[in-house]
Amino acid sequence: MPVGSSRLGFITCLIGLSLLLPLSQGQAGDPPASPSAIIRHELRVSIDPDQYQLTVIDRMVVRVGGSQSPLDFTLATSLRLETVALVTRVGNEERLIPVSTSLGDATIDSNLRSLQVSLPDHQQGNVTLEWRYRGAIDDPPREPRHLRFVTPSETSGHIGPEGVYLSSETGWYPDLAGSLASYALTVEMPGGWTAVSQGRGGAKQECTKPRSDEACRSVQTWESGVTEALTLVANRFTVTTRDWKGVNGQVVHLATYLFPDDAVLADEYLAATAKYLDAYVPLLGPFPFEQFGVVENFFASGLGMPSFTLLGSGSIKRHYTQPYALGHEIVHSWIGNSVWNRPESGNWVEGLTTYLTNYYWHELNHDDRQAREQRRLMLQGYSLYVTPQLDYPIAAFQRKSDEKDNAVGYQKAAMVFHQLRLEIGDEAFWRGVKLLVADLSGRHADWQDLERVFAKVSERELRWFFAQWIERSGAPAVAIVEATASPIREQPGAYKLRIRLAREGGAFRFILPLKITMKGSTSSAEVPLTAEQQEVELVVPAEPLTLSVDPEYMSLQRLKREHVAPVLNLFVTDQHKSVLPLFADSATPFKELVARIEAQDAQVSAERKTAILAVDTMALPPSGSVLIVATSDHHAHVQSLMVRACGELATVGPEGFRLAGTSYAGRRMAALFSCHRRDAPGSVVTVLYAVDPAAATKVARLLFFYGWQSAVVFDEGTVTKRDMWQEFQAMKEVRLDEQR
Ligand SMILES: [Zn+2]
Repeated sequence: MPVGSSRLGFITCLIGLSLLLPLSQGQAGDPPASPSAIIRHELRVSIDPDQYQLTVIDRMVVRVGGSQSPLDFTLATSLRLETVALVTRVGNEERLIPVSTSLGDATIDSNLRSLQVSLPDHQQGNVTLEWRYRGAIDDPPREPRHLRFVTPSETSGHIGPEGVYLSSETGWYPDLAGSLASYALTVEMPGGWTAVSQGRGGAKQECTKPRSDEACRSVQTWESGVTEALTLVANRFTVTTRDWKGVNGQVVHLATYLFPDDAVLADEYLAATAKYLDAYVPLLGPFPFEQFGVVENFFASGLGMPSFTLLGSGSIKRHYTQPYALGHEIVHSWIGNSVWNRPESGNWVEGLTTYLTNYYWHELNHDDRQAREQRRLMLQGYSLYVTPQLDYPIAAFQRKSDEKDNAVGYQKAAMVFHQLRLEIGDEAFWRGVKLLVADLSGRHADWQDLERVFAKVSERELRWFFAQWIERSGAPAVAIVEATASPIREQPGAYKLRIRLAREGGAFRFILPLKITMKGSTSSAEVPLTAEQQEVELVVPAEPLTLSVDPEYMSLQRLKREHVAPVLNLFVTDQHKSVLPLFADSATPFKELVARIEAQDAQVSAERKTAILAVDTMALPPSGSVLIVATSDHHAHVQSLMVRACGELATVGPEGFRLAGTSYAGRRMAALFSCHRRDAPGSVVTVLYAVDPAAATKVARLLFFYGWQSAVVFDEGTVTKRDMWQEFQAMKEVRLDEQR
């Protein structure tokens, strides 16, 4: 679910995890003194979408622990328990002995209740229980609380004519906290429906009729190895399959489960999946599952499940095959769904997956420009969304619910993996990633495990690294105060370069990249800084002229707002901001936009309040960022307010606008652009401008998708130009010190 920041804004990525995992996890094969746990489910499920109903028989094998009686299960509150019986055998005959159940006192979650089962006499070892229950699962997906595309729609599970989604949060089968079980699943549904679950399967009978006068029912089976939780989705899918064969000889069965209208996209998704397997199997080891499916969902989602990904229909239609999208979900097959995360002790899975896909994909494909762009976006995301007051250690990140969590747990954490790679070197880093998967598959891992693995492969002590970057909040910010150079008498042509640094953000030990422009050449240096170091000395082969700090965004530093290229997100994240509506009442899309900003503002933290300025405002407020939403009948007014910030870079007129030297005119055109306020460092003037507001209908709706662009031009709502304007490059001239 994605990072972080694509050009379309935040991508949602969550991986499907049980919320009920306890802090300590029993492993299969633990001695019987461990808590009781389910080790196997055999589920026979009949689904009636039109009735929102399911009927289930679950035969489960429970490993009964030493002290626990009664057993404390959870099940959805809406499901009616018919019987629970102990399955015994006498000779060849199977007998069911009913066992007593009682409702526990606590409602664990709004949709889950506790059910206590008392076994007839003190049972030890493995026992088989048969559960029969039925009921409705009807929690229609709601729009997420946050309007900014960070989280998927919210539902604890749903059965309906539009689709079926049953997850670990649904409580659609009885569970014991901490269980790691294998699953056999048989699903009976109306004819034409297809179920998708984890592991291997899909064998299907299209039409079975219990009685000849009844409608067709389809029956399908799935089998999953040991996993944390089982997800089941179903819909009227068109299924397309293809085999992927790796150079290692491995074969993975790929499939798409798409709605009939989108079935034409199957090849595109299958080809993209194969491409990602080609790239990531060599880096991460054999693909952990026999199958991988791309499944279209009836509500907005980006979920990575073991052996399939569940993507909202909107995403599927938008060709969601990019590395930060499909690539990210596929890498979760190893990172998160093979080696498991333990969210309560810190989520490392999203940071590493984001690093491997959203970022590293571009390096892997030698796209240096895009790789740099991703590093820049990750650092900007962290620097803008996480103010020092809101910052928290990566170790405290569990899952995201807003941009700040995204910036800490996905973006900053990804940059920490980049720092680790710089620190221990490529060879050790990639050996570590592979070892992590190989050693910890089928187990929970936390940051301590990662520290152990990378310390082992690098033969380095890395306690300081993880203490500094994972357990502490913040990031350093380094600037050059002074740089002087003097010729070295013994080395003709060479110079000694002395650099004095200003350090903010606390004591951090890290590698500081420097770019040195010399007479006739440039060079770069990677300077390992100790936590307090403020002086650097280097020997360079020619006379140095200028120095810049990390122009390639390789180091994890906090960027200053005034150093970030002017973008809409500077407005979004400003502590003080205002909106100036300069349009007629008839400009409906603009009116809606302003209303939406007001409504959204009321939902987020109290410190972000947006003032709506009066139409006759003739001067910008003395501080903060301003969003001017305007039509061309106000062109002179807009121009007078923005000229000090934008200068010649952007101007507006009665027929259109001019951006970075190019003119755009006509009623179809609209623009969104931002300029730094020179009189209020760190704040911007952002202008959404249209000759005819009708041309901006789509733009006004999707405005915040373009948060990381300086300028975007729209022709009838379609983007025809994107631009990034000057980003600050901290360049320091080197003073020549002739004294020997
Ligand atoms: Zn993810």
